[in-house]
Amino acid sequence: MSVYACEVCGYEYRPEAGDPEHDIEEGTSFEDLPADWVCPLCGASKEDFEKVEEDGEEESDDDM
Ligand SMILES: [Zn+2]
Repeated sequence: MSVYACEVCGYEYRPEAGDPEHDIEEGTSFEDLPADWVCPLCGASKEDFEKVEEDGEEESDDDM
């Protein structure tokens, strides 16, 4: 699942975290969010979000 970022305020929607304040369960992909879902921070609509391309398939924390 992909992370999407709000182009207005920079908020990142992470599927693994969901959006508890809006009753979005953990594991809900951005595509599965209701059409009327808006950015929790600034209220921007889904159309204002852009997919974040993640480099690398796995996160590595030992990249100092
Ligand atoms: Zn926002």
